[in-house]
Amino acid sequence: MYMNENNRYPNSAIETEEIWRIYKTGSLEVAALKGVNLQIAQGTFAALKGRSGSGKTTLLNCIGGLDSPTRGKIRIFGEEIDAWNERRLTQWRRDQVGFIFQSFGLLPSLSAFENVELILRMAGVQSGERQEKATHCLELVGLTRWQDHRPFELSGGQQQRVAIARALANDPKLILADEPTGELDSATAREILSLFQQIVREQNVTLLIVTHDSLVDSYVDTVLYLKDGQIDRTNQLP
Ligand code: ADP
Ligand code: MG
Repeated sequence: MYMNENNRYPNSAIETEEIWRIYKTGSLEVAALKGVNLQIAQGTFAALKGRSGSGKTTLLNCIGGLDSPTRGKIRIFGEEIDAWNERRLTQWRRDQVGFIFQSFGLLPSLSAFENVELILRMAGVQSGERQEKATHCLELVGLTRWQDHRPFELSGGQQQRVAIARALANDPKLILADEPTGELDSATAREILSLFQQIVREQNVTLLIVTHDSLVDSYVDTVLYLKDGQIDRTNQLP
């Protein structure tokens, strides 16, 4: 359990306070986020929805330390990541956060196993432990039989499972997924969503998924709606 006195909410995983992100291109300014306030409790499977261009990716990237807000505070498990420099953010992302993207982002020349193991190698994990962890994560996503196959030999759903195994490899407390079902048919999307649900239940993680897929509503604990760079409403689902 993470307790930190900076946290207004002791059991919160993600907390933002008046997040603004203004992009400057030449003399043009675009405010992608306009004072976002949100709070997501530990162990929640949360969806972030909203139209294309509403700021979902920008917000997810700020929460994951891939982008920095122009102003405002972001606390992840009580740590104020907006105050960190690039070096500390990079290390934190590598050690503590799992990322999953729409296009899977697997290395084509590596097997499923090697794709997962690479993340651990980059984090400096020793060989024996790498073997053990990669094997375990591929088992969690149901790909043990496919671990020696390369991405092009796998279906879209299987490739996304490899990406999920890879995101789980460093044992993150936070997993961020940007439109992870965007390239999958609806039956496969359901399988992936139910795998996410299982992971949140069993692995003690908080998972935030960006999507505009209406399928997610029956899988997540809460839905946040982003509209024109602001949180429009929040639904706590039963
Ligand atoms: P979503 O993921 O909901 O589709 P984005 O976060 O990608 O929305 O984009 C929000 C707004 O910010 C859009 O108007 C988009 O054009 C703008 N935007 C996003 N990234 C950049 C960037 N790197 N430079 C300039 N404008 C950007
Ligand atoms: Mg987006």
